[in-house]
Amino acid sequence: MGGATINKFLTLAEMRDRRILTLLRYFTLEESSDKLVLKTSDPHHCESLKKLIVEKLGEISGQVMVVLEGESKNGSSMEEKERVNIPNGLNLRYSFTNFVVGDGNRTAYQVALDVAKGPGKMYNPFFLYGQVGLGKTHLLQAIGNYCHDRGLNVMYASANDFSEEMVEAIKRGKIREFRNRYRAMDVLIVDDIQFLSGKTRTQIEFFNIFNHMYLNEKQIVLASDRHPRELKDVSDRLISRFEGGIIVEIELDRDTKIEIIRQKLRDLNLTLGEDSVEELARTTKDNVREIEGLLRFIKVSGKVELRALPSGDSHFDGIMEIVSTHFGVEKCDLVNRGGSRRLNRARHVAMYLCRKLTDASLIEIARGFGRKDHSTVIYGIKRVERERERDRKFRLMLDFLEEKALERLKG
Ligand code: ADP
Ligand code: MG
Repeated sequence: MGGATINKFLTLAEMRDRRILTLLRYFTLEESSDKLVLKTSDPHHCESLKKLIVEKLGEISGQVMVVLEGESKNGSSMEEKERVNIPNGLNLRYSFTNFVVGDGNRTAYQVALDVAKGPGKMYNPFFLYGQVGLGKTHLLQAIGNYCHDRGLNVMYASANDFSEEMVEAIKRGKIREFRNRYRAMDVLIVDDIQFLSGKTRTQIEFFNIFNHMYLNEKQIVLASDRHPRELKDVSDRLISRFEGGIIVEIELDRDTKIEIIRQKLRDLNLTLGEDSVEELARTTKDNVREIEGLLRFIKVSGKVELRALPSGDSHFDGIMEIVSTHFGVEKCDLVNRGGSRRLNRARHVAMYLCRKLTDASLIEIARGFGRKDHSTVIYGIKRVERERERDRKFRLMLDFLEEKALERLKG
């Protein structure tokens, strides 16, 4: 079955090399009975993906075909090229079918599905909010993919991407192109709306695009970590627009959490006893992203018991080594005070990874970094988390370092 191939493909790509997922946005995807066909008109992306698949996904490379679509016979259509080459921000990994539905997220799921089936009709805008790691981005992307598959023009961007792109457009005198590009969408999805906070110019541009789309009955989908009324430094007129459609909160209840753990275990081809599953549900935060990270850790380390996750100096040492090499700083400087910006950043990243990948307490981490109290550790971790949310490149870098650290733990 094609579906199975796709899932396997995406799961493996996620685990082995995320660059594959990033590249996928330049490809269209077709499934036949036992093959996955990925097409692009960009020779460079085509070569890169082929290479990565052979290198990283050897065992299923026979089931995946990467095809360069030749210049079309009626001359190369500029329009078609543009369409393929402009990234629309969608990630094929997220769909309605791989979203586990339960009490806490049922309304969110149902409204998202209704929006995807009838964009611009029933709920406009659709405003989804809730804590981090509960599946907001997943549902937004699922809407985007669903509509994109049905031939609609879809754009997914985080409020930060939107803002950065706008600043860039202004710099290059291309603000009109920027506006038109967004206005041409049938479905506009803007994630992490809380980052509009304090960005006056971005808010003005967004307000105008919003109105244009709304009046033309185009769908707008938004997500945020809080209710519109809780947003800080966002203009009243925007907030009242956000409140003009449907507002849904997403939550995670215990049963759904357990079900999600079960599904992720299946995806990873892991079997755990019911007791361990319950234990995991009880001892982890209500954050599916963290749960996924933990399960991947279990997968590579073979350690099931949360309590048995390695901690202590030898483990810190491995993380510090990976981080210091990556940042090009001396490992011993990580446990000292002060230093360059780069060094501080490296130190914070190392603290963050120690927190994330070991079960060491904040105090233990503080000691590992030569501190008496843990306030620096909290500060460092907060900074990393904030930047992680804001900056895509930084996020990829963290994922990369995390992966390396996990590999290390295995040995
Ligand atoms: P948010 O945007 O709310 O911070 P994400 O949508 O990024 O959270 O979700 C974090 C991770 O958890 C993603 O990999 C997502 O696929 C997964 N996830 C969240 N909720 C579910 C769910 N109900 N079913 C399956 N996966 C989920
Ligand atoms: Mg998100």
